[in-house]
Amino acid sequence: ERSDRSGEKVSGAKVIAQALKAQDVEYMFGVVGIPVTEIAIAAQELGIRYIGMRNEQAACYAASAIGYLTGRPGVCLVVSGPGLIHALGGMVNSNMNCWPLIVIGGSCERNQETMGAFQEFPQVEACRLYTKFSARPSSIETIPSVIEKAVRSSIYGRPGTCYVDIPADFVILQVNVNSIKYKECCMPPPISMADTSAVCTAASTIKNAKQPLLIIGKGAAYAHAEESIRKLMEQCNLPFLPTPMGKGVVPDNHPNCVGAARSRALQFADVIVLFGARLNWILHFGLPPRYQPDVKFIQVDICAEELGNNVRPAVTLLGDINAVTKQELASQKSLPMNYYTVFYHIQEQLPKDCFIVSEGANTMDIGRTVLQNYLPRHRLDAGTFGTMGVGLGFAIAAALVAKDRNPGQRVICVEGDSAFGFSGMEVETICRYNLPIVLLVVNNNGIYQGFDTDSWNEMVKFRDATTVAPPMCLLPNSHYEQVMTAFGGKGYFVQTPEELQKSLRQTLEDTATPSLINIMIEPQSSRKAQDFHWLTRSNM
Ligand code: ADP
Ligand code: MG
Repeated sequence: ERSDRSGEKVSGAKVIAQALKAQDVEYMFGVVGIPVTEIAIAAQELGIRYIGMRNEQAACYAASAIGYLTGRPGVCLVVSGPGLIHALGGMVNSNMNCWPLIVIGGSCERNQETMGAFQEFPQVEACRLYTKFSARPSSIETIPSVIEKAVRSSIYGRPGTCYVDIPADFVILQVNVNSIKYKECCMPPPISMADTSAVCTAASTIKNAKQPLLIIGKGAAYAHAEESIRKLMEQCNLPFLPTPMGKGVVPDNHPNCVGAARSRALQFADVIVLFGARLNWILHFGLPPRYQPDVKFIQVDICAEELGNNVRPAVTLLGDINAVTKQELASQKSLPMNYYTVFYHIQEQLPKDCFIVSEGANTMDIGRTVLQNYLPRHRLDAGTFGTMGVGLGFAIAAALVAKDRNPGQRVICVEGDSAFGFSGMEVETICRYNLPIVLLVVNNNGIYQGFDTDSWNEMVKFRDATTVAPPMCLLPNSHYEQVMTAFGGKGYFVQTPEELQKSLRQTLEDTATPSLINIMIEPQSSRKAQDFHWLTRSNM
């Protein structure tokens, strides 16, 4: 076979087109002319879409936006000299935006160089300032590897612009087909993760923040980090501010968006997490008076050189935003849950048509803001008289109505641990009539707030509890789920989001058995530390 094709020739133009195709390039924008017309034709023949534009600058802007929108670089094809100079505006714009882009420029014939050739210009050098990689292949045989390197460099690390210079004589030169070895498509950018101890420091810094703020930049958009960032934000109930092109990563109409209070958010935040946004002029360099002088920045970026620009960050997380956010989520999960984490996971699984019965102090107040109702008369709570102890009676009534009128409809009863105590023995009633109510006890070891086991033991060690135990405290680590198992229902004791998710799934699938999930949260979590009342209208 080799000998069959040994005489077959291929032009430089076709080699370039094939090399681009091999790197999964889909779009080429440009203005044709000597010496690049043949490259456009060859590319189009191979199925690369060619869009002829009227000026190289516009062509370059278009190609760069393809890179941002698809994560694969678009190509801008330009002629020598003025053609390339017109493209510089687009090249630098893309590079400054950290968007991938490939520019292919024709240049004068090699044997006329330095002689004053047609449109001669030191193009590779000229492009260096506007790109992260600028090179000319030394021969047609090396075109595939230079193009592979350009595509790879444009998307690896901090994305940017890459320039490949093609002398006019390469375009038409015919070479032996067998002499060209195309490179396999470069692998997708490697995903780097941040240092684990930095991830933990960041988690506790966020947790201890009084006025935390997430800033979502276009790096987060490029990284496709929307899902993980939304999860982190909702789980910790953090307010967020998008930069201009960070808009939409989390929808502008999300309740946690504080775009309308931008100046105030920047000025009063004590901890700011930067997801793919530079502390440049757009963010007022991160400096006072637009920020607190002691604001702690947690910087997440893929570019190490970016970390520490203009301010000394409290924590640096070097890595891919999506991967780092997932690390951060995992590490948040190892901390004791708070109300927001718990309700976030409950809301995720609640059937839309369920009855929600709720009572308690924080449990009822915070639960109301997160748990959604979609039907009238499907929420029953402490009501006008603020009565504790109504929950299980209400749940039993709702379960009977559901059973008689709408079989399969669920009743979810969300109780604080103290509220549950007022009518806990009705669990026996629930089990006696086999009402498949899901009881969720959000347990903070107390009324309003309690103590963890260690602090409690320390406190009562040598003293009578009646003289030292704060009246708000209940016995820590009480296994309320055993009230349910005592009567034959299902009981779960959960401490992590995974356990909560799993037990909820099981109870919702089991439509025949009453169940109780005892959800341990941080005993001091009654503080609304992660709330952002500081950014609500009444404070503005
Ligand atoms: P904005 O204009 O929205 O503030 P910037 O362009 O200033 O955004 O910042 C974007 C940042 O995102 C850059 O510093 C860039 O290095 C970074 N970045 C781009 N892609 C990723 C990624 N996948 N993971 C992490 N950081 C990224
Ligand atoms: Mg309580």
